[in-house]
Amino acid sequence: MLTYFQTYLFISFTVMAAIYAYRGYKRVYNNIQLGKKEDLSGNTSERVKSVLLVAFGQKKMFKNMIPAVLHFFIYFGFIITQIELIEIFIDGTFGTHRIIYHAIEEHSALRAVYVFTISFIEFVSVFVFIATVAFLSRRFIIKVPRLNKPELKGFPAKDAAIILLSEIYLLICIFSMNTADMAIHHGEYGFLVSGLLMHGFTGWDVSSLQVIERLGWWCHFIGVLALLVYLPYSKHLHIILAFFNTYYARLTPKGYIANMPEITKEIKLMMDPSATPPPVDANAAPVKFGAKDVFDLSWKNLLDAYTCTECGRCTAACPANQTGKLLSPRKIMMDTRDRLEEVGSANANNGGVWKEDGKSLIENGFISVEELRACTTCNACVEECPVLISPLDIIVQLRRNLIMEESNAPAEWNGMFTAMENNGAPWQFSQQDRLNWKND
Ligand code: SF4
Ligand code: SF4
Repeated sequence: MLTYFQTYLFISFTVMAAIYAYRGYKRVYNNIQLGKKEDLSGNTSERVKSVLLVAFGQKKMFKNMIPAVLHFFIYFGFIITQIELIEIFIDGTFGTHRIIYHAIEEHSALRAVYVFTISFIEFVSVFVFIATVAFLSRRFIIKVPRLNKPELKGFPAKDAAIILLSEIYLLICIFSMNTADMAIHHGEYGFLVSGLLMHGFTGWDVSSLQVIERLGWWCHFIGVLALLVYLPYSKHLHIILAFFNTYYARLTPKGYIANMPEITKEIKLMMDPSATPPPVDANAAPVKFGAKDVFDLSWKNLLDAYTCTECGRCTAACPANQTGKLLSPRKIMMDTRDRLEEVGSANANNGGVWKEDGKSLIENGFISVEELRACTTCNACVEECPVLISPLDIIVQLRRNLIMEESNAPAEWNGMFTAMENNGAPWQFSQQDRLNWKND
């Protein structure tokens, strides 16, 4: 039985963690709200299907079997372990020990279900342990190329290591807790893996076993709270945001690039010389083309940035990256998130009012012009992303701003733009002369 002091500690830790976690998640929510409005409501059944298949079902992960299976164990293990966590939280709050087990009648079917559930969690946890060690080796020993790109140096590498090591830490805690508890009660609970492991404690006295059981229990509980607080600062926030991101994924056909209404209007007027241009509204705010900073992107682009798992599947498939160009779609998402974090904290420190800092998402240590120019708009990154993120959408908006607001394009592109405007084609001769070649 937990003492009153332990119960007090348990509740204090939980409340403290809840306050810090709330601040972290609120910060993320507020930052996403800095984006422009975009209506992605409707089509509920299609959206729910997307969540079930892509977020729950991990559908897009299974293009590459080995990492997919490893990831599946970690993901499934994470979900299923929460069942045991429920009992830990009830015990901690009411000062009980294995309350659900003792509340269920002995030899009943429900008791069998309880024992099966915990045994199943332990069984899956063994595979989670193997998968976590494999992920650590892939990243830090084998050094899989997509997990060792320049954008992952520094905090992103540490972040990945923190999460994977935390996973191992939690597994050790839960196995220490269950195994010592089984040894104290001479295997009474009937759990599968800890039932085998408890033989390692043969000959230990009960008080030592109680210390190990309590240490495992407390360390597991504190580890879970710490992860909850850390998550909003980590790329692993995707374990929560992936569900929202897949729900709000754009349902337009792949390859669809939204037109700019002002340009569409101009083109329609060009194509119909008899049309009368609408009167100019002198009081209207000047039209801004494309995006220069995070405020110009939509909230969905910003949600994408926070959901990015930094897996690098997009970068591995990107033809520009494969041919040695600077562009990495993963870095586009990471830079967008970093700039959003910078803007969000400056904004919060200034009472929610944005004070111009003379910087933007383009250059300033974020996305360079060279990267933006390298994109072929092929959509391979969008196709590969396991959580339905579109780095291309951000690239296109930033590039539109570069070209249409800053006239920042290489000379050869400018020649092509002029030809398109004058000749309706990228070539430097008029449409009437197109077939002249056949006369020679
Ligand atoms: S759309 Fe651009 S960023 Fe995405 S894969 Fe193609 S070239 Fe790379
Ligand atoms: S954008 Fe998608 S594919 Fe690319 S790193 Fe992020 S999660 Fe992975």
